[in-house]
Order: sequence, then structure tokens, then C-alpha cells
Amino acid sequence: MPQKDNDRRVDGGESKGDATDLQLDREVVMEFGGPLGVTAMMLGFPCLMYYFWFSLKYHQGAIFYPTSFDDILPFFQRLSQYFWQSAAPTVWGFQTYGIFCLISATMAAFMPGPHIKGMPIPSLGGKSLDYTCNGVYSWYLLLVVSIVLHVTGVFRLTQIIDHFGELMTAAISFGFIITLLTYLFTMFTPVFGKPHRMSGNIIYDIFMGAPLNPRIGPLDLKLWAEIRVPWIILFYISLSCLLKQYEWLARQVLTLESPVRTRTYGFITAPQAFMVLAHVLYVNACQKGEECIPTTWDIFYEKWGFMLIFWNLAGVPFTYCMSSLYLSLVLGPISWSTSYTVLCYVVLLAAYYAWDTTNSQKCRFRMQQRGIYIERKTFPQLPWGTIKNPRYIKTEHGNLLLTDGWYRYARKFHYTADLVMALSWGIITGFSSFLPYFYPCFFVFVLTHRVVRDNERCAKKYGKDWEKYVQTVPYIFIPYVF
Ligand code: NDP
Repeated sequence: MPQKDNDRRVDGGESKGDATDLQLDREVVMEFGGPLGVTAMMLGFPCLMYYFWFSLKYHQGAIFYPTSFDDILPFFQRLSQYFWQSAAPTVWGFQTYGIFCLISATMAAFMPGPHIKGMPIPSLGGKSLDYTCNGVYSWYLLLVVSIVLHVTGVFRLTQIIDHFGELMTAAISFGFIITLLTYLFTMFTPVFGKPHRMSGNIIYDIFMGAPLNPRIGPLDLKLWAEIRVPWIILFYISLSCLLKQYEWLARQVLTLESPVRTRTYGFITAPQAFMVLAHVLYVNACQKGEECIPTTWDIFYEKWGFMLIFWNLAGVPFTYCMSSLYLSLVLGPISWSTSYTVLCYVVLLAAYYAWDTTNSQKCRFRMQQRGIYIERKTFPQLPWGTIKNPRYIKTEHGNLLLTDGWYRYARKFHYTADLVMALSWGIITGFSSFLPYFYPCFFVFVLTHRVVRDNERCAKKYGKDWEKYVQTVPYIFIPYVF
């Protein structure tokens, strides 16, 4: 049984696998097709985001393209018109996005919360960084502030959907600017520590990043960007769609009723409410279980470059919201049959339960093993989120591999659950457009690529013990199937 040590924090200490960890942490592996592949991604991602937005705004969510050779030039002229009409950079867009980032970064730096130790960092001689887990309090405070701003009319949340294109342009610009600044500061100043795991190819290094753990005073930039920006903006986009629907339907009802009535109430549809619920669950999970985030691959291994910066600041919020936008801008107040709607809700909640508990089972197991487990009361704490007396494999490296709970059935069951949630965001919109299914399709690629990378890394790290683990838990995604 791993050490149980509630409310006590101790350093991880030396482990037998230090040398292996250091070697793996330094190893440069060219991913994503190397410099050419990452250049295509850096140019392609923003184009794709604009294309999706124009498709929703001007083409009912349909895929559009030049219909003949002669149509190629007019097609690009149309795209340019769409851009200036619905996504041109504005002071308002930059100000709004910038103020949000500033508020959320200030909260991340200064709100109170329990402190935890992150994973030992091989390049720092096994030292662990301190993290303040104030995400959940910041999230609640942000909710209160935004409700006040909305109700008083200082900042109506419906403006988010009204100015979606402008905000997306601001986010994309921030993604590029912060990527470049981070790279330059790391290469030419000591503020973010030494450049880490560099390939020597400037384009590839800008994409993958130079610093491993950039911080500004008490603000851990990577953790902030990972959970304080993308999911929260995503939630506000969906909420904005919901409020817009409510106001729009209220106006429809008002015009049908006696002009004597000056006030009326709209309503919201089950699919639009579904999207808000889905995004509330995701944001809340990241904040209430923030102590688990430093143990994830993005934080302990990936560097802070275009891939994480752009994707967190712009990609996640402005592409994962396709379902909410499609419901709001294209389908309108649509409803499905009760049984279909209930099925969607059940799938979402069941997948959420599995995802939340799989992540927390492994994370808490690892925290207990290192003696840094803190018991939190954040809402909701789900049954089976922590396993008592779990089975595990002790490795020569020194780490333990969990083979109990969900990990008894599949090695990446949390990926499957996450993917099912993503799929449920699509099916709630029906099957008339590909756009709401972009996220689940893209996610399949992200997760399989991760599984391959992670498997290779762990096989090197744990050697025969990893083989034993794979024999003990042979399935990756779906127990007894695959
Ligand atoms: P994991 O949580 O699977 O972390 C992998 C690491 O966990 C391994 O490298 C290994 O690290 C350790 N590990 C693996 N198996 C075991 C075990 N049996 N017992 C103990 N430790 C083990 O992956 P991620 O960090 O990628 O994902 C975390 C969550 O984030 C997932 O739910 C995922 O779906 C989600 N996610 C969401 C994204 C999105 O865009 N929506 C994008 C990416 C992730 P070690 O070297 O320490 O042994």
C-alpha cells in the first residue's frame, strides 16, 4: 500500500530511476513530421479556425469550397470579405480578451489555496515545484463577478457570441505573440530558466517551446494556461449562446403577446442547456481537482511553446465550442425527442463520472506514493475517486504502477471517457453538420498520438516492468475489446 499521508507535504526524495528520468527528459524526438509538419500546423490551425467560423456564420455550418477552377480567386475574395465583416481585429476584442487573461492570471497568482508539490523535475535534479491550488476559489469568484457584470449591464455575457470573431482574432494574436515572447525571453534572458530539450531547429523549437516551467513570480504560466483560460472561455461561450437563446425566445414570445405586457420570459432548449452543463462539468473538474494537473503529461513533460500556448489560449476555446455555436447560430431553438435527449445526457454524465474518477484514482495513488496527497473537499467528490489498498506493480525504477480501480480494466480508460464526452457534444446537435464532430475527430488523433508517445516513453523508463504491466492490463481503451 502506498504511503498515506493526508495533509502532510514532503519532498519526493531521490528515486532509483533518476538517471533514466534525466535521460528520457533530455531526449529530443522529432514529433508531428518535424519542422515541415509543425510549420503546416502553425499556419493551418488559425486558418481552420477562421474557416469553421465562416462556415457557421455564412454557410449554415456546411463545408464550402471553390466549385470550379475559375471560382478559386473569388473564393479567397469571399474569405477575405468574411474576415473583415466578422473577425477583423478590434480594440474591444483585444481589450476584452486581454482583461480576462489579466484577471485570471491575477487570481491564479494571488488567491489563497492549498499548496502541493509537483512531480520531481529531472533537469532540476529531482526538485519539485510548489503549486497553489486556488483554481476552484478563482472559478467561483469569477462566476460571481460575471453574473454581477451581466445583471448590471456593465458587461452583458451575450456580447461574447455577438463579437465571437473579434475575440477569436484577439486570442489567435495573443497565442502567436506569447509564443514568440516566451521563446525569445527563454533564449536570451534567464527569466524562464534554461532552454530545455532543444532540437536546434528554430521553427520546431518555437512549436514545441523552449522553457519547461516558465513562471512570473507566483504565477505558473503553464498551469494557468492549461486550466484557467481555455475551459473557462469555452464555458462562457456556451453560456453566452444560452443567454442569447433565452433573450431571443423572450422577444419572440413578446411579439406574439399583448403589447400591454412589457416584460416576458424566454426559455432555453435542452440541447443548448446540455452544452453549458458539459462545459461546466469540464471546467469544474479541472478546478476542483487542480492538484492532479501537475501530474499530467502536459505539465511534467511538454514545454511551453506554440503547441500548448496557442492551443490553450485560442485553439481549445474557439474550436471546441462548435456544438454550442452550431446550436445557437444555425439550428436555433431545436429540440429532439425526449428519449434521444435523455440518452445524450446519460452518456455525458456516465462518461464524466468515468473520466473524473479514472483521473483521480491514478493521481491520488501517485500522490499517496510520494507522500504529498492532500484530501480536498471541493465539489463534487465522486464515489470510487480514491482506491483503498490498491493493487499495483512495483517497478525497479522505484515508481508504482496502478493495476486497480479503472486501471484494472484498461490503461487509458480516461481517454476513452474523455472521447465519449466529446462525442456526446456532437450527437446533441444531430447529424446535419460535420463541425460539431470536428472536436471528437481531432481528439482521436491527439489521444492516439499521445498513447503512442507515452507508451514508448514508459517502455523505456520501466523496461520489463512495463511489459509486465501491459500483460496484467492488456487493454488500452476499451476493456476486453481493445
Ligand atoms: P495520463 O493521465 O495517462 O498520464 C500518463 C502518465 O501517467 C504516464 O506517462 C505515467 O507517468 C503515468 N502512468 C501511466 N500509467 C500509470 C499507472 N498505471 N499507474 C501510475 N502511473 C501511471 O495522460 P495525460 O496527462 O495525457 O492525460 C490526463 C487527462 O487529460 C486525460 O483525462 C486526458 O483525456 C485529458 N486531456 C484532455 C485534452 C483535451 O484537449 N481535452 C488533451 C490532453 C489530455 P510516469 O512517468 O510518472 O510513470
